[in-house]
Amino acid sequence: MLNTLRTIVQEVSAASDLQAALNIIVRRVRDAMNTEVCSVYLYDAEQATYTLMATEGLNKKAVGVARLFQSEGLIGQVGLREEPINLKAASSHPKYRYIKETGEEKFHAFLGVPIIHHRMILGVLVVQQKEQRRFDEHEEAFLVTMSAQLAGVIAHAEATGSLHVTVNTRKTARFQGTPGASGVSIGEAVVASPVADLGAVPDRTCHDIKRELDSLDLALESVRSEMKATAEKLSGHLPAEEQALFDVYLRMLDDNALGLEIRNRVKQGNWAPGALRQVIDEHVRTFEMMDDPYMRERAVDVKDLGRRVLASIQQHDHECITYPDQTILISEELTASMLADVPQEKLVGLVSIQGSSNSHAAILARALGIPTVMGAVDLPYHKMSSKQLIVDGNLGLVYASPSRELLEHYQAVVEEEKEFSEGLEAISDLPCVTPDNHRLPLWVNTGLMTDTVRSLDRGAEGVGLYRTEVPFMLKERFPSEAEQEKIYRQQLEAFAPRPVTMRTLDVGGDKALSYFPIQEDNPFLGWRGIRVTLDHPEIFLVQIRAMLKASVGLDNLRIMLPMVTSVYEVEDALHLIHRAHGEVSAEGLSVVMPPVGVMIEVPAAVYQVRELAQSVDFMSIGSNDLTQYLLAVDRNNPRVADLYHSFHPAVLQALRKVVEDCHKEGRTVGICGEMAGDPVASVLLMAMGFDMLSMSATNLLKVKWALRKITLERAREILDDVMMLDNSHLIRSSLELALCREGLGKVMGIKSKRFSSQEPDRE
Ligand code: PEP
Ligand code: MG
Repeated sequence: MLNTLRTIVQEVSAASDLQAALNIIVRRVRDAMNTEVCSVYLYDAEQATYTLMATEGLNKKAVGVARLFQSEGLIGQVGLREEPINLKAASSHPKYRYIKETGEEKFHAFLGVPIIHHRMILGVLVVQQKEQRRFDEHEEAFLVTMSAQLAGVIAHAEATGSLHVTVNTRKTARFQGTPGASGVSIGEAVVASPVADLGAVPDRTCHDIKRELDSLDLALESVRSEMKATAEKLSGHLPAEEQALFDVYLRMLDDNALGLEIRNRVKQGNWAPGALRQVIDEHVRTFEMMDDPYMRERAVDVKDLGRRVLASIQQHDHECITYPDQTILISEELTASMLADVPQEKLVGLVSIQGSSNSHAAILARALGIPTVMGAVDLPYHKMSSKQLIVDGNLGLVYASPSRELLEHYQAVVEEEKEFSEGLEAISDLPCVTPDNHRLPLWVNTGLMTDTVRSLDRGAEGVGLYRTEVPFMLKERFPSEAEQEKIYRQQLEAFAPRPVTMRTLDVGGDKALSYFPIQEDNPFLGWRGIRVTLDHPEIFLVQIRAMLKASVGLDNLRIMLPMVTSVYEVEDALHLIHRAHGEVSAEGLSVVMPPVGVMIEVPAAVYQVRELAQSVDFMSIGSNDLTQYLLAVDRNNPRVADLYHSFHPAVLQALRKVVEDCHKEGRTVGICGEMAGDPVASVLLMAMGFDMLSMSATNLLKVKWALRKITLERAREILDDVMMLDNSHLIRSSLELALCREGLGKVMGIKSKRFSSQEPDRE
């Protein structure tokens, strides 16, 4: 059964459109279950009806014609109850409703299972048989599994518009993701694929077919010679059948085999990497469908062949992408280096298929002030190249090929946002002080040099978090001590005499270094942050020495340790910091020992604030990680993005506790998670007693604007009120309401007013 399921899933995913996928399902399921009828009914929420969309066994003329209301017949019952209905004789069920066009009267046994995606009913999958019998539990389990697979396919087709058979290609398609960085932009899509990741290669129209063919030939030739060399090197060391595989692969790469297929696709107009991906995908599917497990395994080899050819094309390919003036960069998974490839003045929007608003790509995007949508899982990014897109980073929406009306609407939003931000510039040089004279320093989070200029322009009073992993991510190897010293010096110099808090290397989780791969099943609970650097004192010591040397004569450095869970980690790190300080002093440099602080990012640290505070000089809450660990919600997973809520009562209580405990020990406490840059949250954080807030430069003026308008006394009353509530959504909306009453509504993001409450539909 498992094999059958796998092959059906493969075939369905390869289908050209939804109708083809449904036809495959009904045919293959009927055969696999050895039954007489298999049908799919899809639910249309607007009309509240089920329509027969595909069948094997019922009258085909009924497809698209046979309809049932929401609660009508057995189909309606399956949908209402959201569970399978398994009957020996369908017609004796009180809810049975005979649909004449289908000719189903001769079938007695009935098994219907709901097709559900993200709690929404999409349709019903049914099998029927003449014989009067109940389907057994294995059959029921098979159909339930099938329907779960089908749910994903239907949801995707619905999102992309291919569900509507009459879809007009000029219609707007809308894709829901989560807000990554606020703001709205309109531009042209450029699809970025990671180096040698075949799966992420988009289709792209090629304008110079000869050039593409030449680049393909060169790549095939170089992979062939590479393989021949490997085969020779290994000859005599491998069993004969393994050795023979090399010949098979060489033949596959031959001009008359895969080579020919790829060439043909290029001649039809796709660029070489896109043509390669299509051909390799087809062959991989063929292998994966084979019954023989040994042959199935060969799919991996074909994938590997494809990857090699792609790497070679990329290496030989000197074409550099021409970025349009209004570039919207899309990728399966955005990375810092992809962002760095695009000239900053041309980059207006970002879309990532994976990830959520708390992923590092989103944090970077916010730092750069680029409207971003994350986790747009249904967006077929392969097909987006050169399409006009609207990115609505406020609502987490992406529109492809927008209608004129939608475009006009969004052009107005872009203008409105621009005016509001320009108005804020007037307060750049003013302090962040409330009407009742409470002073709250606003610092910035940095990582790139571009952040620095923007931060200073906006009146940042210090750096609360310099993410040192960002310069590490932009390199192809660990930067040397001298290289690091230079980068850190720029940062310290730019802000001096203001303090700069440099966090020691925080890799692992979703922050990967291409040259230091960490493969783990559960990376957020694995080797990350201080755990990595304590295990690699050579990396840690080089970094600390570079920081200390960079601060000579400036003395505005603060060092901060990420992902601390135990006091002994701090003790070990302090020991290494003192050692590095001794080494730098021994080189004759005069550096004062900088203040050292810890980040409070895991629940264990929340309960150890007083103990930790005794060994260090300051604390800073990393609310991004703290939220994920307190709520057990992966900050990077779009599927649970709705559950990630920094206004969760547990998070608010933890924040309050950390501030109180820290102050009891006479230490200062700041917050440098994304929450600090949310103007709405900043009011609560001020009321809790934080000594400073550190945020991306993009949000600094908005936060300052809000805090200059509300008294500390009023903020404390609002905090007391929301701490009584037990629901994060309620907390957020009560807060928003309270702030609107204080005249702060403007700062909550300019929303897509006309379209937000109503589907913009596929005009
Ligand atoms: C945090 O976790 O809140 C934080 C500031 O660190 P990062 O987002 O870099 O993990
Ligand atoms: Mg963190």
